[in-house]
Amino acid sequence: MINQGRLSLRQALVICYLSDLVPALKNCMKLKWLLIVLFIHLCSQLPAQQNGDPKLTEIWKPVPRVVSPGATPSDAPSDAIILFNGKDAASWQNKNGNAFNWKVESGAMTVVPNAGDIQTKEGFGDCQLHIEWRTPAEVSGEGQGRGNSGIFLMGRYELQVLDSYNNNTYSNGQAGSIYKQHMPAVNVCKPPGQWQTYDIVFTAPLFNQDSTLKSPARITVFQNGVLIQNNVELWGPMQFIGVPKYEKHGNKESLLLQDHHNAVSYRNIWIRPL
Ligand code: MG
Repeated sequence: MINQGRLSLRQALVICYLSDLVPALKNCMKLKWLLIVLFIHLCSQLPAQQNGDPKLTEIWKPVPRVVSPGATPSDAPSDAIILFNGKDAASWQNKNGNAFNWKVESGAMTVVPNAGDIQTKEGFGDCQLHIEWRTPAEVSGEGQGRGNSGIFLMGRYELQVLDSYNNNTYSNGQAGSIYKQHMPAVNVCKPPGQWQTYDIVFTAPLFNQDSTLKSPARITVFQNGVLIQNNVELWGPMQFIGVPKYEKHGNKESLLLQDHHNAVSYRNIWIRPL
């Protein structure tokens, strides 16, 4: 909390001296001191900056904890949970609870078409997430059939992954969209076969005791360093047909990656619970 301003001793003495210059006050000590006390009280209620002391708006405690940044903004900082380091997929399992069954090769894990979605064993709520993805270099299919996958926060809220480089589809279904909700602000996709990054800040929805929605989920996304979703409010979980509707769920849920039958790859996945 910022301190209120205080009148200095020197300022009080100046007020005493000036009050002596007012004839009506000079001969009435009670009124004079009443006015001085009232003036000091009013000054103490003023915002600190009006009294001219910059220290009054300084906050010294608490102190932010120290985090060591990665070598580049894509590298995990010291307090991140590493979900995939290019070799070890131990944090993941198939959505149906079976063992992880995507391909891990050359520092990436890649969808095996029809193997099913995968999800983290650990649940997450509010978070900062970094994830890198690549659609197949060999282009086949079009629209939603070209390099389709998806990143489902809390297993429900889909940030679309798609080859959207010269590939027309509905705007709120292209790469960087919150699928069937918000289109990305711009299309900043790289050509197929190149690695791309998403840096995500996700705020989980909150629910009331009676299961009604208290506050919706929100998401901010940078794709390849460019802002594409600016703290947008989600309408509910991903809904392929119809209008999405929130349903109460836990405050920590698995992060899910979609098998949409295209060999999309992922690497360098790290998360910071917030
Ligand atoms: Mg998808």
